[in-house]
Amino acid sequence: MKLRKKTTNVFIFFSILAFVLLMIIIPYIERNPIYVFDGQKYQSINMNGIISAFMSLICILIVCMSYKTGLIISLILMTLFNLQMTLAVIRYQSYSALPGIANALIYMIALIIMSRQLQRRQTDAVTDILTGLLNRRGLIQYLERATKEKKPFTLLYVDIDDFKYINDNLGHKYGDQVLVELSRRMTTIIGEKAIASRLGGDEFVLILPAKEDVEGLTQNLLFKLNEKITLKADETENNLYLTASVGSVKYPDDCRDTQSLLKYADIALYQAKNLGKNKCVSFDKAMEQEIFRHAEVESIIKESLLKDYFYLVYQPQYEAGTKRLRGFETLIRLTMPDGTSVAPGEFISVAEKTDLIILIDEYVVNRALREFSEYMKSFNRRYTLSINVSAKNICRRGFADMVIKAVDKTQFPAECLEMEITEYCLVNSLDIAVENINKLKEIGIQIALDDFGTGYASLSYLSKLSVDLLKIDKSFIDDIGVGRKAEEFISAVITIGHLHGCKVISEGVEQENQLSLLQQKGCDFIQGFIWNKPLPYEEALNLAQNNL
Ligand code: C2E
Ligand code: MG
Ligand code: MG
Repeated sequence: MKLRKKTTNVFIFFSILAFVLLMIIIPYIERNPIYVFDGQKYQSINMNGIISAFMSLICILIVCMSYKTGLIISLILMTLFNLQMTLAVIRYQSYSALPGIANALIYMIALIIMSRQLQRRQTDAVTDILTGLLNRRGLIQYLERATKEKKPFTLLYVDIDDFKYINDNLGHKYGDQVLVELSRRMTTIIGEKAIASRLGGDEFVLILPAKEDVEGLTQNLLFKLNEKITLKADETENNLYLTASVGSVKYPDDCRDTQSLLKYADIALYQAKNLGKNKCVSFDKAMEQEIFRHAEVESIIKESLLKDYFYLVYQPQYEAGTKRLRGFETLIRLTMPDGTSVAPGEFISVAEKTDLIILIDEYVVNRALREFSEYMKSFNRRYTLSINVSAKNICRRGFADMVIKAVDKTQFPAECLEMEITEYCLVNSLDIAVENINKLKEIGIQIALDDFGTGYASLSYLSKLSVDLLKIDKSFIDDIGVGRKAEEFISAVITIGHLHGCKVISEGVEQENQLSLLQQKGCDFIQGFIWNKPLPYEEALNLAQNNL
């Protein structure tokens, strides 16, 4: 960029020099014409026409190199040239220069038109046609300049939440209308001192001078974008409410170059989406590491599915009073060939953010059923094999069919199978979840509500879903002995569970006092380190065979 500017300046300087030189030469040539013998007599040739054509060419080149300054320079040069010719007309009373003056004037008009056109083309190249804001190219150019000037600013990366819904359901015409309206709101909020641009789709970047009250502006922005949007077409009106997520990054505190500014703001935006959308998150360094680790774990999961590095462990569940084995909860584990392990808490949450969890759940269902199907029928007693279902899966059409297919294929006794669902997944897609649950129950599979009490609608689901087992979350068990509240809550859950015809299990039981309280309150089953940690397959099998 710097080099280009320097070259332009050098070029313009030498062009001016050449122009002035030609201006000096012209009167000399006028006085000393070239004579050419045509066979009969000498003819004088006037070279002024050629020289003035060269001078015009120089002006054209100067304008091409710099549309604004170049035009001013060219107009000054042409005016000087015209002045010189006018003086010559007055001085020598010779009117032969008059066509040259007219020619130069026409050239000056042509130069102005040319400069305007070039400027318009340049503006179009950096403008978003739909909204009239800067486009990606314009933004990058602006950022390059701003970072060179070293004036602090805040960059906001704005993404409209679930905008895809509008395009998919209402069509692109409405989508465009919405984008125009939102961009209008953004420019009104940020005012003239800030820059607004549209990167494409529903992504916008705003640049606010550091002096502005960035926090207040951002809050105002989120508020304004959330206001009602009215879409009109064919006399019908549609009202729409949208939200936006924002990632913010500070120059020069967070980073100093254009690419990193956009990348970091995007990372912050990603966090804002993860935290539930409709919010602004400021970038900090730890986020970058988190994103890096996320990508790393994602590729580990893909490789492990392909090369079969996953395996299952089984944590025993016991009857609370008699310590008779009830069955096992299936828990997935991942160890790489070099011995490094990734904790399920980490890879499950990464997988849940991508569609990899669908493959993982399918893998667990198939493997657990395969490992136990043969033995389930040979055990003297009936045990329950419990399998965790991720939120994404239970709310996905086709999940129940996948499980039923695996049951058929392995001939696993369906009544010995239990699917553990977490309540928070039910909030958004209760209908599909109910459909899946009903299909599973139809063939005799039991349903457990995992991590019970951590969601905010626990009790309301009990009446809507036919649940067989409630799993009291470990966090409540941890609080036993700390205060009376947890104990009262546990007691209430057990009572309510029983009232709804459910059995109740407590997970994460580690201490004697926890166990005795749970026994005393009538909890049906116990799962926890107090009696067993998750066991490798062979050990779990042995336990089941010997626990008669
Ligand atoms: P969860 O379903 O609530 O599983 C119980 C977790 O508590 C397991 O952790 C288990 O090892 C742990 N735990 C059990 N008893 C005790 C105890 O007494 N003390 C302590 N400190 N911990 C105990 P894990 O295996 O790390 O699994 C964590 C979570 O990952 C699970 O929570 C579940 O949500 C998810 N997960 C594990 N395996 C699978 C799977 O195969 N599929 C899916 N979708 N999720 C899974
Ligand atoms: Mg579980
Ligand atoms: Mg749990």
